[in-house]
Amino acid sequence: MRQSKLYIPTLREVPSDAEAKSHQLLVRAGYIRQSVSGVYSFLPLGRKVLRKVETIVREEMDRIGSQEVLMPALQPSELWEESGRWHTYGPELMRLNDRHNRTFALGATHEELITSLLRNEVRSYKELPMVLYQIQGKFRDEKRPRFGLLRGREFIMKDAYSFDVDQEGLDQNYDDIFNAYKRVFERCGLNFRAVIADSGAMGGKDTHEFMVLADIGEDTIAYSNESDFAANIEMAPVKVEYSKKDDPEKELGSVETIGQKTISEVADFMDVPKEDCIKSLLWMVDEKPVLVLSRGDHEINDVKVKNVLDAEVVELATEEQTKQVLGCEPGYIGPIDVSDDVLIIADHAVQSIVNGVCGANRVNEHYQNVNPERDFKVQQYADLRFIQEGDPSPDGQGTIVFARGIEVGHVFKLGTKYSESLGANILDQNGKSAPIIMGSYGIGVSRTMAAVVEQMHDDNGVLWPAALSPFDVHLICVNPKNDEQSELGERMYEELSSKRMDLLYDDRKERAGVKFTDADLIGVPVQIIVGKKASEGIVEVKDRKSGEKLEMPASEIEAYLGQNYL
Ligand code: ATP
Ligand code: MG
Repeated sequence: MRQSKLYIPTLREVPSDAEAKSHQLLVRAGYIRQSVSGVYSFLPLGRKVLRKVETIVREEMDRIGSQEVLMPALQPSELWEESGRWHTYGPELMRLNDRHNRTFALGATHEELITSLLRNEVRSYKELPMVLYQIQGKFRDEKRPRFGLLRGREFIMKDAYSFDVDQEGLDQNYDDIFNAYKRVFERCGLNFRAVIADSGAMGGKDTHEFMVLADIGEDTIAYSNESDFAANIEMAPVKVEYSKKDDPEKELGSVETIGQKTISEVADFMDVPKEDCIKSLLWMVDEKPVLVLSRGDHEINDVKVKNVLDAEVVELATEEQTKQVLGCEPGYIGPIDVSDDVLIIADHAVQSIVNGVCGANRVNEHYQNVNPERDFKVQQYADLRFIQEGDPSPDGQGTIVFARGIEVGHVFKLGTKYSESLGANILDQNGKSAPIIMGSYGIGVSRTMAAVVEQMHDDNGVLWPAALSPFDVHLICVNPKNDEQSELGERMYEELSSKRMDLLYDDRKERAGVKFTDADLIGVPVQIIVGKKASEGIVEVKDRKSGEKLEMPASEIEAYLGQNYL
């Protein structure tokens, strides 16, 4: 396409409200424009890239036998009432009324709608398994829409839903879709990890998030430097063999520690390593007090506390509650001589502490030479702490490293939550009626496009991978007023286009500097520059990523591109 005819409004200035690189570059290079906060238009270049992401997603979903549908964004509130989510989804769900005062939601997700679609029509196990997907705009009134396409209020999602008779069927579909997602993100050229995620309130067992490694990411993931292991830090199990020093146990004693409250203060003051301190935190677990112990250099993970105690609500006790239960303010609390009404649980590491330090449940006082089991009883030792960088990977291979991640995909075993509440049943092999077993799977299509830019850019602009670039080749005629340059440029544009290459042809009557700056900003992987040597039939090829330039006869370009870029 001729750049002179294309709508590519590039900007030299960084938009003032754009923090994320992808946001800055996609606006500056003329791919997107904001309408209102979290709502964007895709301009011609942006639409092209988005379509490429969509095509990859479609190909991989179709490959596993999944079928594309298109459901409405406008959904009657009754369906959300049936599932219960009209009340639980919260303010993120965009709600509106029609002229008859009927209430609707704009689809934030489509579990309700798709379940209602099938419930009266799919009746026999013979019709399953089935996976349906769509690529469509989703609406979520995010609290903090930001980072451009990364967190929008209207965005493009590929959502898919699987329907099975039994758990094995679900497991199979889950694996197939998991692998399809891996291929999608590989084809997008992304550095990503499939991480074990928290199933949260949804109560499901298996769930993974696909995380693109990028500093702007809002999640922290722990992954192994040697294997595939990766988990959301909340979910990463700690598997460490702690060894106990064989020092003789000394006599318990108390020490005056005026004003020394934090582990750092106490460790410094008493001149002991943090590892020898017992950190005690009082939690209210389903309204009952639980004292949770960890080593001073570790952090308690409330998700693990919640899971170990099979609890609903886990909250740190307030200062008031702490005083009430332990008779002392936080900072000096500990497990010795605590009333039997308080459950004491501890992270495994605590078991190996010898002659440690802990609070005395009296202000300005700590104990030294504390030995677990001799000086206090623990009802349960468990894995309760956050994994840390440098810990061994739980799969036994390599060491844990942290990175920030952008969630681009999510696979989730739903089970029967929606089929039960909305009444989607089938007759199984034995003629018995049972709710359909479902899975739910999402890819943030527009977010993926931005995540690619987060990983692939430099100071001058975007560095598209060939699979997503809006064009295969950027042909630039430096000076179209020069007949030789213009003729060679036009000829190459015609010839290469006829070879099924998708070219962006810069035929604009602009200064050379403007053209080169725009080309780098737009970020097509290879540029062909028709300049002064056009008279000799020589052009320049520039690799956008490395910046390397090469001169060659125009006649060799087609073969060179075929070998290196297409
Ligand atoms: P997040 O934790 O980032 O809010 P989520 O867990 O709410 O995401 P899902 O409900 O699993 O997201 O949606 C499926 C996919 O849709 C996500 O993996 C993500 O890629 C994408 N997505 C979700 N919310 C947004 C948003 N506000 N803007 C752009 N993409 C989004
Ligand atoms: Mg999610």
